[in-house]
Amino acid sequence: MTTKHLIIVGGGILGGQHALLALDLGFRVTVVERDPAPVSASVRNFGLIWLSGRRPGPELELARRSRTRWEQLGARFPELGFRPAGSLTVARTVEEVAVLEAYVAVAPDRGLDVELLDPDGMARIAPAVRGDGLAGVLCRDDAIVEPRRAAPAILDAVEAHERARVLRGHLVHEVELTDSGVRVHSTAGVLEGDAVVGCPGAEHGGPFSDLLAGAPLERCRLEMLETEPLLGGGLPLALADGDSLRYYPGFAELPEAAALPPAEPIVARERIQLLVAPRLDGSLTVGDSHRYDEPFPFDLDEHVADHWLCRIEQLLGVQAPRVRRRWWGVYSRHTGPGPYLRVSPDPRLHVVTGIAGMGMTASAGVALDTMELIS
Ligand SMILES: Cc1cc2nc3c(=O)[nH]c(=O)nc-3n(C[C@H](O)[C@H](O)[C@H](O)COP(=O)(O)OP(=O)(O)OC[C@H]3O[C@@H](n4cnc5c(N)ncnc54)[C@H](O)[C@@H]3O)c2cc1C
Repeated sequence: MTTKHLIIVGGGILGGQHALLALDLGFRVTVVERDPAPVSASVRNFGLIWLSGRRPGPELELARRSRTRWEQLGARFPELGFRPAGSLTVARTVEEVAVLEAYVAVAPDRGLDVELLDPDGMARIAPAVRGDGLAGVLCRDDAIVEPRRAAPAILDAVEAHERARVLRGHLVHEVELTDSGVRVHSTAGVLEGDAVVGCPGAEHGGPFSDLLAGAPLERCRLEMLETEPLLGGGLPLALADGDSLRYYPGFAELPEAAALPPAEPIVARERIQLLVAPRLDGSLTVGDSHRYDEPFPFDLDEHVADHWLCRIEQLLGVQAPRVRRRWWGVYSRHTGPGPYLRVSPDPRLHVVTGIAGMGMTASAGVALDTMELIS
């Protein structure tokens, strides 16, 4: 039997996960990535493998399947920095506490391992959390990877495999189906394969523009920053504030969330929540905000950063560490039903995008879904 050849367009986290899984399944793989290394959403994120706020049903199940694969990959590739660190979502008002209490009541039915903690309980698991939080939910299912390293490391692992090649710095401009399989036209030449998977991220034009035209997709721009290491450490897990309760459907769709007071004006305008992911060196990745109106601003808004730093000080009760870098990133969001968009007009051609703010979390699960269709 001849080995099937899978061509993957895009070397972000989705492309990389598809490539690695296809190799594990015995395929020959070619990845075409237009940049020399991933520089898009897949390296600009928090690295959160986040189950806690997911909508019960397909979204949470996808995240859970994916987390299992991430854990296996973390054991195989220590450079991913996978750690089952968990997360703490902190309430600062009685209305937020009520949402957390309701969430803790339904979480076991969702298969989530959570616990409601008082201020002393929070400080026991995260000694840095000594601010004005009234209560917090510890979710033991959440995990963290190192976002600047994970997608590049996966692509490197693919490239090192004897059945794979990675064409870096090459653009795919057309994909066609042929009698024997697929033909991919790229700046590296014409590639012949048995099937193609497009993982173009927020690039809705390009070789898949016809397939994606009119699809329920929008793009979102998020602002982020990274601080110097937190003095004294004490934050071994990811942290979220009460604005996450308005943002993540796993919380926001609980009846108790309807009683949350209106968000602060800047939070409402920039669709802000505070998420903090501790990096291995003790620094903190902090975000995020959400803008959907294109063209996106090219500059970063200091008021957004000021809000996050102020909120960190409220949650930790100490001065926030100095900011060492700021950036923004764009993801593609599926606005139709389901956690992401799959367009598969033929068993040999699949395009997956629109995975929005759960692309790191769910990338391995999306790859599992795709490979079931191809294998
Ligand atoms: C600021 C921010 C924070 C986030 N935080 C998290 C988080 O903590 N947890 C989480 O689960 N998700 C998070 N996300 C979402 C997650 O990062 C994305 O959903 C995910 O990275 C999307 O991966 P992707 O591979 O589809 O896209 P991308 O990372 O955009 O990769 C697509 C790749 O395809 C390449 N490409 C496109 N067209 C072509 C072509 N024609 N030829 C060749 N190459 C092409 C591009 O160069 C690019 O490298 C965050 C996103 C952002 C922006």
